[in-house]
Amino acid sequence: MNNAVRLIWEGAEKRPDALALREDDRCWTYAELRCGVQGAMEQLRERGIAAGDRVLVVVPTSAEFVLAYHAILAMGATAVTVNPLCTSRELAHFVEDAGCSAALGWHEDAAAVRATATDFGMDLWLLEPGAVATTGGGRPAEVDADDAAVLLYTSGTTGAPKGAVLTHDNLVACGAALNEALDLSPEDSMGTALPLFHVFGQAAVMFTAYAAGGCLSLQRRFDAAGLLQMAADQQLTGIAGVPTMWNAMLHAETDLTAADLVRLRLACSGGAALPLEVAKAFKDRFGAVVLDGYGLSETTGAATFNSLANPRKEMSVGRALPGCRLAILDEDRRELAPGGTGEVAISGPVVMREYWDRPDATAAVREGEWFLTGDIGRMDEDGDLWIVDRKKDLIIRGGYNVYPREVEEVLYGYPDIREVAVVGVPDDRLGEEIAAVVSPQPGADIDPGELRAWLEERLAAYKVPRVYQLIDELPKGPTGKILKRGLDRESISTAGDR
Ligand code: AMP
Repeated sequence: MNNAVRLIWEGAEKRPDALALREDDRCWTYAELRCGVQGAMEQLRERGIAAGDRVLVVVPTSAEFVLAYHAILAMGATAVTVNPLCTSRELAHFVEDAGCSAALGWHEDAAAVRATATDFGMDLWLLEPGAVATTGGGRPAEVDADDAAVLLYTSGTTGAPKGAVLTHDNLVACGAALNEALDLSPEDSMGTALPLFHVFGQAAVMFTAYAAGGCLSLQRRFDAAGLLQMAADQQLTGIAGVPTMWNAMLHAETDLTAADLVRLRLACSGGAALPLEVAKAFKDRFGAVVLDGYGLSETTGAATFNSLANPRKEMSVGRALPGCRLAILDEDRRELAPGGTGEVAISGPVVMREYWDRPDATAAVREGEWFLTGDIGRMDEDGDLWIVDRKKDLIIRGGYNVYPREVEEVLYGYPDIREVAVVGVPDDRLGEEIAAVVSPQPGADIDPGELRAWLEERLAAYKVPRVYQLIDELPKGPTGKILKRGLDRESISTAGDR
């Protein structure tokens, strides 16, 4: 069977009574999960959805997402999973671009998807807990391994959101590679509050859990203390989250200690740079080593990972996953020797088929066997990779290249800082000036002058931000990643402290 849902079907054959899915007190064994997916398949069929259709999925992290998503794939249709916070204008773009013929929403906060379904005359199925039938008997559709299983909209390096086409094979390859890298077994259980519409939760966590034959345990809305409590109560072996979640868990108000989390061996971070200080402090407080992995929507969420066997070199995102290769390319797209800094390129079974209906955009990110990530990195002789920055994030201050990431790393060492974003702001003299937008720990008072003096002791003068702005909360993307493009650079430039 080529269909990616075979992981669930295999689980149901081999270990029907093993736990596969959990949300609070609701639990599904593999046999029950397969039945639920079959039930959802029948419900989708009754609504007129068929193989080859594209179905817009606007559903938060929930057991119902897992059931309906797998049912769409099982039928040979394609799931277009998007952020439930999208407006109807944004949803319309996805519907038009992907040519969706039906939509799934969530019973709460359904106004946007309802409006879009009406505008486009699409069938809308509103899910809620218990909405999916618990019995059914259908078999998964035969698909070609490179048929589109999902479209994930991403801006990539440039421009309007494009649909990264991930195939059935891509999803299975991601699960298999992470299983091998992390040495997972059916005894493993992964807890997460990541949004499942995004590649990290969907591929790198859900498919990894099902490739292992283990359990996926969901928290619908991220709550740091609650997720740690869930890990202790359910004796989870893994938690997956973005750095902002690890930061929040690190500072969570909880009495839990390392002794409560002895089974937690896979504390997995990804999606953005994990500050060293956060990883260190988490280990000190809760005992678990936080492993950092790197990937993009276009690489099915996977490309590199640290593992317990290959411990993290300071700030490295680890080595290529089994089956994948990495290269660092110069501006002429030639491979650089170890130690050189350039664009990170990836090849392997996790690389997407294409951007949906965008041959030019697809061609722009391909060079022979390589997918060009738009990230700037460096690799050492052992193949360990460091992400230095994103191509477009680079600040060029008076002719000097400054990678914001490096400055942020240092800032995270300052005691009263909770989160920080370093960005370039327009400057008449230098072209760009460096600005630090800082969110202090609750109750802390940061003096920009003192902070700047502290940085001057630690960084070359040309890298020290001259503009400082304090804010309560940095703008965040759907996974909780800090969104630099949500910051208004013009106003930081005029209003920030200098
Ligand atoms: P997305 O397609 O939304 O998953 O975003 C992918 C981008 O997130 C990559 O191109 C990187 O810029 C960034 N990213 C993902 N993982 C990491 C990581 N571990 N360290 C630094 N940046 C990361």
